[in-house]
Amino acid sequence: MSKEYEINESKYRCPECGNDKLRARSVQVCEDGCEMWVECAVCGYDPAESGDHVETVMGWDAGLEVYALDVWREKLDEQNKDSEVSP
Ligand SMILES: [Zn+2]
Repeated sequence: MSKEYEINESKYRCPECGNDKLRARSVQVCEDGCEMWVECAVCGYDPAESGDHVETVMGWDAGLEVYALDVWREKLDEQNKDSEVSP
């Protein structure tokens, strides 16, 4: 299951290919557990480690989409912060 978004804020566009299409996905990772996360809909870039993904037992959970999107934003914020520090 997946669902596509368009991100409005330019600073949250895909850092790899620069497009504004994101895709929320859920994938079963074990017998009774799924992970949800947001990745680039074009190149599949995912800034989060597996452990940073949102865990769900119900498969696709629409109530958790917002948290998956938060992880994307947080990770890109971290990357932006890092690039500001280095010259
Ligand atoms: Zn991309």
